[in-house]
Amino acid sequence: MSQRTDRAAAFGQNLYLDTRGAIDAPVPFTEAVVDGLAAGGGLYVPQELPSMTIEEIVALAELPYAQRAAAIYKAFNVDLPDGVIDELMARAYGDNFDDEAVCPITSLDESTHILELWHGPTSAFKDMALQCLPHFFSASAQQLRDQGKLGHEFMILVATSGDTGKAALEGFKGVDGVSIGVLFPDGGVSDIQRKQMVTTTGDNVQVWAVRGNFDDCQTGVKRTFSDADFANALLDEHAIALSSANSINWGRLLPQVVYYISSYAELVAAGKIAAGAEIDVCVPTGNFGNILAAWYAKQIGVPIGMLLCASNDNRVLTDFINSGTYDISDRPFVLTASPSMDILVSSNLERQLFELTGRDGDAIRQWMTDLAEKRCFRVDAATFAKVRENFSADSIDNATCLATIKAVLDEYDYLIDPHTAVAYAAAQNLRGENPVLIASTAHWAKFGDNVYRALHALAPAAALPDETAQLTGCQLNERIAEETDKHDIPAGLANLDAMEVRFTDTIDGNVEAIEAAARAFLAR
Ligand SMILES: *Cc1c(COP(=O)(O)O)cnc(C)c1O
Repeated sequence: MSQRTDRAAAFGQNLYLDTRGAIDAPVPFTEAVVDGLAAGGGLYVPQELPSMTIEEIVALAELPYAQRAAAIYKAFNVDLPDGVIDELMARAYGDNFDDEAVCPITSLDESTHILELWHGPTSAFKDMALQCLPHFFSASAQQLRDQGKLGHEFMILVATSGDTGKAALEGFKGVDGVSIGVLFPDGGVSDIQRKQMVTTTGDNVQVWAVRGNFDDCQTGVKRTFSDADFANALLDEHAIALSSANSINWGRLLPQVVYYISSYAELVAAGKIAAGAEIDVCVPTGNFGNILAAWYAKQIGVPIGMLLCASNDNRVLTDFINSGTYDISDRPFVLTASPSMDILVSSNLERQLFELTGRDGDAIRQWMTDLAEKRCFRVDAATFAKVRENFSADSIDNATCLATIKAVLDEYDYLIDPHTAVAYAAAQNLRGENPVLIASTAHWAKFGDNVYRALHALAPAAALPDETAQLTGCQLNERIAEETDKHDIPAGLANLDAMEVRFTDTIDGNVEAIEAAARAFLAR
């Protein structure tokens, strides 16, 4: 308690700046979380970063995970009462995770450690943030209402190509003052992903299949967000505002900083590294959120050497880290075996560049304008040198990804998903002397079809053989479990075929259809 007061006195209330220097005055955590994106299009970053000594970091290992997370939020001077932070963290990281450690580490050998970020309800790493953010979003909104700064509640709208939708549904279901609607492309997600979404329980959730592809979904949702008449009508009729709670929200990033600090403490407590010894961290990267969180952990005091950025064939980040130029002007969007990393515009890179330029909002604004207008920007030499100091990067193609799944199973009797395989393969290419912590971002059973291809030496996009092609996603996973003797399929994935389908609506992807569906849901 007194330590908290000291820290608060040392840097006062920790406010949030925006990366484009556009907002009038910095805002507290609660407002940054409820706003999501700053006015002017920038992203929020904390004015002050706490610093932790090695002793303080290592001591976290004595606490349960929820209390480690609470301690780190308090170190950031989150403007909610300490008791509230404790209570929200206990809810975020409790028995909704199937491992007491929340994100346990499996060590393949003395210097290769796998951080398993997929023990949450949807079996992918987005749970680490989305089991936490909704509680803080709801409590922040409540506090702002109590302060008279906010008069409405929220509806979250999410367009998803797979993982994010289910993680958001699970995170927001049952949360006060918020409802959530998710749109996915009809026929454009896997059997497992669709069943995960349409069987979601809870009164404040809704799921729609959309006629069209993911782009149609996303465009429809974006147009809905920018329809001012619709926004006013929702406020008038329901006292509801739309929000996206997407991965640029600071409230999704901070929970990810937590697990990098926590896992260093774990490695020391388990005797796997000496306190103070450097590790490298390798992250399968899409929107740059997860690897940025590791960079923040490094600033706070975790002895991290290099950050190894792993890309799939959508290698814009790898090319940027190796050249200083971010160029999507002539870059095709490729469908890969690791779909959650299929991305061209990596939004959280903006935060990283803001930090590496010494928080130069003018430079960021210019680069983001270049990106929007010329589909390309190039950072200055000093910033590029900083990038090179912190990051190295490699891209892994589909065939190598699948071969890596097989190789790791053969060598270590450990089954990984395609995203983790991209990181594992990149780490092999990039690692130096330091031990490596590899972020494992999904359970293998979320991507059973590609795991099956890997185990049977099928080409990345090959059709599955007839007898397996007819199986449901769950049945295919059982087949893999038998073949590999890996019977750890999480309950949330194993039981999907038996669960009641609650959502069967298919709608058009245009803005009128989405708005009509949203209204019908709110009028329920
Ligand atoms: C979202 C996701 C990623 C990419 O993480 P970023 O924070 O966007 O870089 C990697 N793997 C899986 C399984 C994901 O769902």
